[in-house]
Amino acid sequence: MFEVSDRMKKIPPYLFAEIDAMKKKKISEGVKIIDLGIGDPDLPTPKHIVSALQKTVEKVERQKYPSYEGMLEFRESVAEFYKRRKGVKLDPQREIIALIGSKEGIAHLPLAFVNEGDFVLVPDPGYPVYYASTVMAGGKPFYLPLKAENDFLPELESLPEEVIRKTKILFLNYPNNPTSAVANDEFIRSAIDFCIDNKIILAHDYAYGEIGLDGYRPKSFLEFKNALEVTIEFNSLSKTYNMTGWRIGFACGNEEILKGLLKVKTNVDSGVFEAVQEAGITALRGDDKVIEENCKIYTERRDVLVNGLKNLGFEVKKPKATFYVWCRVGESSIEFVKRILDLAGIVATPGIGFGANGEGYVRFALTRSKETIMEAVKRLEKLF
Ligand SMILES: *Cc1c(COP(=O)(O)O)cnc(C)c1O
Repeated sequence: MFEVSDRMKKIPPYLFAEIDAMKKKKISEGVKIIDLGIGDPDLPTPKHIVSALQKTVEKVERQKYPSYEGMLEFRESVAEFYKRRKGVKLDPQREIIALIGSKEGIAHLPLAFVNEGDFVLVPDPGYPVYYASTVMAGGKPFYLPLKAENDFLPELESLPEEVIRKTKILFLNYPNNPTSAVANDEFIRSAIDFCIDNKIILAHDYAYGEIGLDGYRPKSFLEFKNALEVTIEFNSLSKTYNMTGWRIGFACGNEEILKGLLKVKTNVDSGVFEAVQEAGITALRGDDKVIEENCKIYTERRDVLVNGLKNLGFEVKKPKATFYVWCRVGESSIEFVKRILDLAGIVATPGIGFGANGEGYVRFALTRSKETIMEAVKRLEKLF
């Protein structure tokens, strides 16, 4: 009786929901599952961040509606974080807003800037929200293939002129989910120049900005000259501080772009719970050791899984960042995932779920202990 809109019909069912259903069925059958599917850290939020919430949640003034753009002190702590970690100077009053997780901001950005029929450039494979938010805003997603032979960087120079002319937003995401690729300086420079030349918003999803492995430091796009003219960078405490459930992130960069996004937000939500922002301030101002420790753990896990997969003959590279391993399987990614779930009780994510160019690949998330990943490798050794 109540048919969903034509727009919603264009959006495929949320990938992770389908995988979840498959997994639940196996669990109900008594299988001991090793879940390397969803990108949700198994590690706890550091204690000092949890205590900050506990201390502040009882204060009446923190129980009120928050401001739309976020507490000034939260935005100041973001500015300090960018100065300390990236050497980037941001004005907390004009160049930073709080988000209810970065997904919220990414999902609302096209609504602020895309007119019916405008193009939005969307990486394929990529985080499904770029496509969905474009369609929900009445825009047309135009896919940018990410291919192994180009190190999973899109070829912006080969885009048709008529598409470029009608493009409003370019979504990029480095370090990348799902391919775990990183962007070199030359590419970032060329993407910024491309957007300046063509008056396109550069929306950089930097959710894995602090998940550098072996000491690698993934750069913020805002470290580059003139980036502020066109860039909005989405960032999040979710992966950096193991806070996915808390729903806190932020956007920073170009003032005009942030204002557009904030106009949507003031009509949709009422900001981030201030007790959570207080915890965020504690996280961002806290010792960076917690970040380094996280990265060390992911580095060890990466080595176990990548070495294990290589020994089995898989084509897989050691990622420099993120907690994902993107593995070529050379067959239907869904068939592969079903097979290892069925025969080894391992959950992974089929590449096709991230776009047509993800086909032939599977994503493993390093969100289980080293020992559990060793066990997963053992189970795979029996299969391959
Ligand atoms: C996890 C993730 C996010 C955001 O998560 P939030 O919890 O909403 O901040 C954004 N982009 C990518 C690519 C991610 O993997």
